[in-house]
Amino acid sequence: MSCLFCRIASGEIPADIVWQDDALIAFRDIAPQAPTHILLITRDHHVTVGELATADPALAATFMSAVAAVAAQEGLSDYRLVFNSGAEAGQSVFHVHGHLLAGRPLSWPPG
Ligand code: AMP
Repeated sequence: MSCLFCRIASGEIPADIVWQDDALIAFRDIAPQAPTHILLITRDHHVTVGELATADPALAATFMSAVAAVAAQEGLSDYRLVFNSGAEAGQSVFHVHGHLLAGRPLSWPPG
């Protein structure tokens, strides 16, 4: 299994897990870009958010509910959810993940 986030999902590589259920896992980013920087991933391998939404719309919807659950657990009222989709958009790990960023003012537009 070569996918980094599949290896985190399986427990082979440790992560600072903050929330999980049978389909999704949220853990702290190893290189945080904000005071709160959490990644939410699917346990199953999907490459991008678009591919996830096409292959498994129910899981994509559940993913959004999980974002709300993680934000509530972390006490976040203001946050940014980012999906980098494709290398040109900044995706470096090709297993779908949402970045939940919070805890400082976030500028717009992103770089
Ligand atoms: P992206 O560039 O959108 O694909 O985001 C990948 C994210 O994964 C980056 O923010 C990395 O800091 C993060 N990352 C890489 N390896 C790990 C790891 N072992 N544990 C937690 N986060 C990681």
